[in-house]
Amino acid sequence: MARSAMTVPSDQQHSAHYVLTKHLVAGRTCGDCAQCCDFKSVRAPGFFKPAGERCPHSTGCSCAIYDTRPDPCRGWHCLWRRIDALPDEARPDLSGVAFEVLIDHDSEDPFEHVSIVVLALDHHSVFQRPDVQSWMNIFLQEGSLPVFLSWGGYNLMIHPPPDVAAAARDETLSPPPGKEAAVERWRERLRGVRAERALNKTASAS
Ligand code: SF4
Ligand code: SF4
Repeated sequence: MARSAMTVPSDQQHSAHYVLTKHLVAGRTCGDCAQCCDFKSVRAPGFFKPAGERCPHSTGCSCAIYDTRPDPCRGWHCLWRRIDALPDEARPDLSGVAFEVLIDHDSEDPFEHVSIVVLALDHHSVFQRPDVQSWMNIFLQEGSLPVFLSWGGYNLMIHPPPDVAAAARDETLSPPPGKEAAVERWRERLRGVRAERALNKTASAS
């Protein structure tokens, strides 16, 4: 389905942050999918569900306490709900793969502070499927965020590629030939992430 990846209100089309965290695809609902009630952790006052375990309130295709579900469940949507370019058949329960934006400001790895995660719900072989690869390409071609594959407790960063990532992390390394501009873009991004982290640490210590 050829939809724009960034179908958002015209005054906010510049904002990838808006698309990834606020925008919802018009007319798209979760239907019978309840996959995030398995793969996400949910922490709320008086309630904790670990990642990778089915929530006791999940029927497998819906939430049995939908009207009173915890706030984190209300605010969270996978990227299939947010990105117009992901087609209907990419719905996690139908496709076996879930796309999410992961925000982890506590991670020591600056690439993990804000990243796209492609999660295999059953088996990592799903990453080899041409349809799944075409959906991953939406994020790889847009390119501004790190992209991780995740399966069975493993995580593998596929964007930026390892040589670019290594040079971005360590500014004493020479960028690989022909990749100087890409390395500099990522270095700038990582400097920003590290500066923000240092500021947050200072603020929480005072
Ligand atoms: S994984 Fe996505 S589509 Fe499925 S229930 Fe969660 S938010 Fe809805
Ligand atoms: S409370 Fe409902 S929406 Fe939240 S994880 Fe459990 S089943 Fe899913």
